[in-house]
Amino acid sequence: MPSGRTEWTRVALVTAVALVYFAAARFGLGFAVVAEQVTVVWPPSGIALAALLVLGSRAWPGVWLGALAANALAHEGAGTALAIATGNTVEALAGAWLLRRVRFHESLDRVWDVMGLLGLAAGLSTTVAATVGATSLCLSGIQPWSAFGSLWFVWWLGDAMGILLLSPALLIWGSRPYVRWSRHRAFEAIALGGCVFAITAASFGGRLAQLTGSHLSYLVFPLLIWAAVRFGQRGAAPAILIVTGIAVAFTVRGRGPFGDTSTGHPLMMLQVFLAVAALTALVLGAAIAERDTAERRRMAHYAVARVMALSATLEEAAPQILKAICDCLEWDVGALWVVEAGGQEMRCREAWHRPELRVPEFMAVTRQVRFAPGQGLPGRVWQSGEPAWISDLAHDANFPRAQVARREGLHSAFGFPISLGNEVLGLTEFFSREIRRPDEALLQLFAIVGSQIGQFIDRKRSEAAARLSAEELRQASEAKDQFLALLGHELRNPLAPIRNALEILSAGQADPAVATQMHEMMQRQTAHMVRLVDDLLDVSRITRGKIELRRERVDLGAAVERVVDTVRPLLDDRGHHLRLSLPPEPIVLEADPTRLEQILSNLVNNAAKYTPGSGTIDFAVAREGTQAVIRVRDNGIGIRPEMLGRIFELFAQADRLPERVQEGLGIGLTLVRSLAQLHGGTVTVASGGPGRGSEFVVRLPCLPPQAPPGPPVAKAPAAAPRAQRRRVLVVDDNADSAESLAILLQMQGHDVRMAYDGPSALATAREHHPELVLLDIGLPAGMDGYELAQRLRPEAGLERAVIVAVTGYGQEEDRRRAADAGFDGHLVKPVDMQKLWRLLAAL
Ligand code: ADP
Repeated sequence: MPSGRTEWTRVALVTAVALVYFAAARFGLGFAVVAEQVTVVWPPSGIALAALLVLGSRAWPGVWLGALAANALAHEGAGTALAIATGNTVEALAGAWLLRRVRFHESLDRVWDVMGLLGLAAGLSTTVAATVGATSLCLSGIQPWSAFGSLWFVWWLGDAMGILLLSPALLIWGSRPYVRWSRHRAFEAIALGGCVFAITAASFGGRLAQLTGSHLSYLVFPLLIWAAVRFGQRGAAPAILIVTGIAVAFTVRGRGPFGDTSTGHPLMMLQVFLAVAALTALVLGAAIAERDTAERRRMAHYAVARVMALSATLEEAAPQILKAICDCLEWDVGALWVVEAGGQEMRCREAWHRPELRVPEFMAVTRQVRFAPGQGLPGRVWQSGEPAWISDLAHDANFPRAQVARREGLHSAFGFPISLGNEVLGLTEFFSREIRRPDEALLQLFAIVGSQIGQFIDRKRSEAAARLSAEELRQASEAKDQFLALLGHELRNPLAPIRNALEILSAGQADPAVATQMHEMMQRQTAHMVRLVDDLLDVSRITRGKIELRRERVDLGAAVERVVDTVRPLLDDRGHHLRLSLPPEPIVLEADPTRLEQILSNLVNNAAKYTPGSGTIDFAVAREGTQAVIRVRDNGIGIRPEMLGRIFELFAQADRLPERVQEGLGIGLTLVRSLAQLHGGTVTVASGGPGRGSEFVVRLPCLPPQAPPGPPVAKAPAAAPRAQRRRVLVVDDNADSAESLAILLQMQGHDVRMAYDGPSALATAREHHPELVLLDIGLPAGMDGYELAQRLRPEAGLERAVIVAVTGYGQEEDRRRAADAGFDGHLVKPVDMQKLWRLLAAL
């Protein structure tokens, strides 16, 4: 429903058209020939067509009223005036409709448009008014039927001339072109106008004839060509108008080359002359405009391609692309948008405007605003993936920036998508101060430019990603080197005291107390090394998702006590005070006991490591609803706030005690977190900062209070049980390994043989008939442990022998492979003696 304001605007518009039409009609009828109502100069037809094309068909009542009023004063009956007015209106409506059907440009910037104006509007639509007008004059008896032919022709010619001579100027200037005047251009325009005026007046006013003996009327041609070549249609159309005005004014006074009445209808001859002149200028203007446009498009395309070839990043290319397109295609403002926020909205990445233009508000809004799909010009292009054109921003319902644009004088806009295949990555939009009709050829060109920019963005993104991954690779390699250095260091740490102890013991003079001390020390260091290696293997397994929990019911309190037993030596060594707090009721978890203890011992170990001597460590376990909550708090060195978020990352290490050398590989907490998560739990850390202690809290799901725990985990017997004397074969290519293991077994009273490769092991086994074979997997002489096991099994006397793999490969798949090869068990080096004694006891 139109608002009151729009209604008033329309009434004002219609009235203005009616008045202008009426005035032009009165003026035109002043040159009536043949009949009072028929004239060879009929400017209203040009006015009517331009009004309907520029203002839209809604302006037709203005044409009708103007024509009615003019005809009513031309001594006709009311019926005839009505018929003629209607004929004139239908003519204009038909002309406008026909031109719109052929996508006519009001700017007449193609030869096609000039031909359309000539053929469809001037030539064809005018037959309506001529036929209606001549018929009604004859019907009403105002004119005799014998004059019908000449009436019709003069009518038609007058209307056609009105359209051809007058409408181009009205159309071109009515579409509000924005002319970029430079000083010398303005000077040239004034000079051209002056020449056109002076020479036409001199020729048609008869002055030239007086001077030279000839009217030299063809001199207007070079002037019109000048106008068309230098100023395009914007120059040609007004020049035609000036020539027409002056020529008609003198000719009706009987002056100039066509003023001689003895040659028939002077004005008619003048019309033919003017038609030829106008067509020459308009066709030339259009051809030049077409060539210019093609040249500008080619330049724009080339400039964009060049910018993309020379730019390293989109940030560098974007302003240059916008400037190149604005410069080449005469747009005033350009902006480049990209899809951001994970594909949720579009944001302006770059905006550019002509330096001489003042559009601060529009630029600020454009840089600030965000658009969702479908919203505003960017959103529209994004949603459809198609270019969009807005001829007049003020009349567009979906352009949120319209008000600001209008305030700052921007009228037309077009946007084209930056696409990669079917995906829209962004768009560029351009604005101009003049009203521009959609330009199909431009849109087609920019579909290609858009996909080229899309490929550019994609290429730059891939390059950035490649750079990033190269950087990541470099960092990873650096981290690997650091890690290897750390690992070497960590393994050397326990080796040094072990070697020292060996020296002391080999000297043979150590008293028993020192020897015991050395033994304990070596055991501790070996245990530390074993744990390091175990942790390393665990981490790789967990990060590859290759770990399986062996869940059973576990009493958390009992697990805590076992952990405390194992960390006790370290706590005592550093003089820490441990405050243990266990719940009165047992807390039962469905957990893997080994892994649970690994979580707890890592945390308590860390608390002991990262607390200066004689610290206090609180180890508390409680139930909170369905969760078991384990807190390990220390009053040690604490953790800097910026490290808190990274502390659980693999190889992350924060501060350490200044007096201590490197301890650990930065994998303990990664294991803690992964294992807690595997159990469906979490681990968090808090610290007041450096020097203010740390607290680690593990939350694990637990069973309801009544759930009974599983059978207690048997504690390993402290000393080796005396087993029955067994025949044992130890096979290992590392002679030291084989011999030390053999001595240990012999010390327990077993009958032990050794072999260092597969064939000799087979031979020894045939003769010795071992009950237990401890077999290394990696063996020389072309027969590995797997093959040896397979060949031992069928030997006579070995059917019941227990064959156990003793290997450095402790992973799940190694165990499976050993089982497949016929091994009865699997021990990881260094062999846990308790396990070995249990094995022998069970034979
Ligand atoms: P690491 O082998 O270095 O101990 P972790 O993964 O167990 O590796 O711990 C990672 C880092 O977290 C440690 O290097 C240490 O800087 C910090 N950290 C761990 N526990 C504590 C704690 N209780 N107090 C202070 N810092 C700690």
